[in-house]
Amino acid sequence: MSYLISGARVVDPQVDLDRVAGVLVGDDGRIAAIDPSDDEVRAADPVVIDGHGQVLVPGLFDMHVHFRDPGQEYKETIAGGVRAAAKGGYTDVATMPNTTPVCDTGTVVTYQLQKAAEANLARVHPIGALTMGERGEQLAEIGDMVQAGACAFSDDGHGVQYAGIMRTVMDYVKQFDRVVISHCQDDSLVGKGVVNEGVVSTRLGLAGWPAQGEEIHIDRDIQLSELTGCAFHAAHVTTAAGVEMVRAAKERGDDVTCEVCPHHLFLCEDDITDAYDTNFKMNPPLRTAEDARALREALCDGTIDCLVSDHAPHATHEKQVEFERAPFGIVGLETELPLVLTHLVNPGLMTWQRLVEVTAVNPRRRCRLDPVRIEVGGEATLTLVNPHDPFTVTEDFLAGSAHNTPFIGARLDGRASHAFVCGHAILMDGKVAC
Ligand SMILES: [Zn+2]
Repeated sequence: MSYLISGARVVDPQVDLDRVAGVLVGDDGRIAAIDPSDDEVRAADPVVIDGHGQVLVPGLFDMHVHFRDPGQEYKETIAGGVRAAAKGGYTDVATMPNTTPVCDTGTVVTYQLQKAAEANLARVHPIGALTMGERGEQLAEIGDMVQAGACAFSDDGHGVQYAGIMRTVMDYVKQFDRVVISHCQDDSLVGKGVVNEGVVSTRLGLAGWPAQGEEIHIDRDIQLSELTGCAFHAAHVTTAAGVEMVRAAKERGDDVTCEVCPHHLFLCEDDITDAYDTNFKMNPPLRTAEDARALREALCDGTIDCLVSDHAPHATHEKQVEFERAPFGIVGLETELPLVLTHLVNPGLMTWQRLVEVTAVNPRRRCRLDPVRIEVGGEATLTLVNPHDPFTVTEDFLAGSAHNTPFIGARLDGRASHAFVCGHAILMDGKVAC
């Protein structure tokens, strides 16, 4: 199938492109022409998509999601997860390895790739575990997983508690030219903490999860990256001080990057009320309003490299329990782009170029994937975004299996309308293609 996306503003800073142009997608899944001639259009006989008022960007890539498959398919499957991704306009996702069993061998990587190929929507790039079972004791089969197609390594969901183990892991991962993604959490400080330690934990009578429990590991892992030369990426940073550590490391020339989630940008601890809504429980927790402001600035100024959802599906009954007992995490693939459009891009706080960098360019570079550029001959992996298409987030809007998000009822400005993976339509007019 050939497509002509006409009249859209096309933005791709990788090729210095920012203008209204027609983009012709050939039936070989590649970009056949930009501003095609009448003859080229006639020969291709494409399906025409009216892009007026919309913005066409390289396909979005979320490098931090949890799809629960294998082992906890009652929460979400890979087939369901890639539906959520497509709905959000994401052509690619990287899945965290805390499945059951943990993705710590090439066999699990292969299984996940096969399931994703069968679903044939967004592409899945498995992240392998750093240590066996994410127990933080013994190296996982990193070489085996690289061969099977793992794009990066992480024990996400758990901090690696011992510096010596993390050093060994980094020494090893460096040999494969992959990045270590660290879930920064010192268990001896965090304990059973469920919300940020401070005024709100005191007011609500909930155990506190102190900012230092995160920052000490960010600082440690930056130092270990300097010691080993291994590329280091801090997952879901939440505090102003943590971001400052990353900023300083970059100024020293370290191979250090980080990411942020929409809930840490646009919510804060004050949003947790005495309703004890468990959809405000995530790990790391919502921090202060001042932290959220610092994160928004750092995302816009280039200190934070990537926007990720930390999409974490749970079954409804699991969240319908006391706050302390509920599992951490919320879904986010479907609302991630609309939230950033509404709060940063449309108000003029973030440029479209910057949006493309944090959602498409930097995550691919960090996960060692080939770049996706809007150029003739390039793979037609594209997202068409309607920035002014107001809607209210409802459970029906969510395309994955789970509905655990605090953004139900939110009124948002815009969303993805179409998405293509190598010319294969996965989202058409806001609907998941199959
Ligand atoms: Zn994590």
